[in-house]
Amino acid sequence: GVDVVDAVARALARADTVRRLEVRANADTPEDAARARRFGAQGIGLCRTEHMFLGERRKLVEQMILAGTDAERDRALADLLPLQRRDFVGILEAMDGLPVTIRLLDPPLHEFLPDHTELAVRIATAQARDEEPDAHDVELLGAVNRMHEENPMLGLRGVRLGLVVPGLVTMQVRAIGEAVTERLLAGGAPQAEIMVPLVGDVRELRLVRVEVQRVLAEISRAAGVVLDCPVGTMIELPRAALTAGRIAEEAEFFSFGTNDLTQTTWGFSRDDVEAEFFTAYLDKGVFSTSPFEALDREGVGRLVGIAVAEGRATRPDLKIGVCGEHGGDPDSVHFFHTAGLDYVSCSPFRVPVARLEAGRAALEETEGSDSR
Ligand code: PEP
Ligand code: MG
Repeated sequence: GVDVVDAVARALARADTVRRLEVRANADTPEDAARARRFGAQGIGLCRTEHMFLGERRKLVEQMILAGTDAERDRALADLLPLQRRDFVGILEAMDGLPVTIRLLDPPLHEFLPDHTELAVRIATAQARDEEPDAHDVELLGAVNRMHEENPMLGLRGVRLGLVVPGLVTMQVRAIGEAVTERLLAGGAPQAEIMVPLVGDVRELRLVRVEVQRVLAEISRAAGVVLDCPVGTMIELPRAALTAGRIAEEAEFFSFGTNDLTQTTWGFSRDDVEAEFFTAYLDKGVFSTSPFEALDREGVGRLVGIAVAEGRATRPDLKIGVCGEHGGDPDSVHFFHTAGLDYVSCSPFRVPVARLEAGRAALEETEGSDSR
């Protein structure tokens, strides 16, 4: 009853006074953001924008990525802009005064494109009836076939998509800049940060950054406001961790994407953790817990350590966090505290646990003992 609630509140308050790690949440709707705030999140560490391209907006994505002409693509992007702006205004409003890290689009393309089989069946059905198949279906199937990837997780994702679809980064950054402007003019205190996914080389980040600065400067001039959005990157590929010193030249913050970093370090697909060999590895004791649950300190953890050291060697004030699932895992929170991160970001429901564990990690450090 009330005693337990009181005890938890006291423990959380104590943890909050001693912890060094900031705790943010992963959220991409105003509702989730508000919930995270109630759980004590100090910001949004990861706002994924993928879902903002699904549902009724799927049509626009098809036009944007599969468009036959530049004009069609530009029209789709123009239609997406006000929708994205509204998404961002909602989240910035819910988190007013706190940082919101908005990640540029990182879709697993296979989940976005129209389904190959569905299209093929529709076309074959029409043909079997001696009817002319829908021309749009035929066009889409051709595009889907051209874009087919054997392993979409290792393909046209994240920053790669942003660099090859003309206008995509521009549209998202414009939506962010305009949303921040709208909130500023309404008297709010929006703190948007722009995060680039799946970067493996500093040059990818530099290309995006130049565009971000161009678009924000344009909006600032037109609206007469000061737009100050830090630009940072996910560190979720081994190459990014190993070249973090270079990447930090173009990044104001790093956020470890330990889901992809675990996947790419081990060479295991994060979508196949139910696979037979995975269970066998657990049975045979190759690992006692899935590396997607408990952070693999010997492999992934070393890459984290390298990236922290190299990143801060280039830029001592580099802000560093983690937003993979490990950000809310108690044991991993201890690791991130010791590794010198500034914040962890986890699902809203895990925020209280992360606050407690961050407090325990700080206490254990000062007491010089591990009471776990
Ligand atoms: C990650 O890879 O850990 C991450 C946070 O990004 P996503 O899960 O969206 O790939
Ligand atoms: Mg990722």
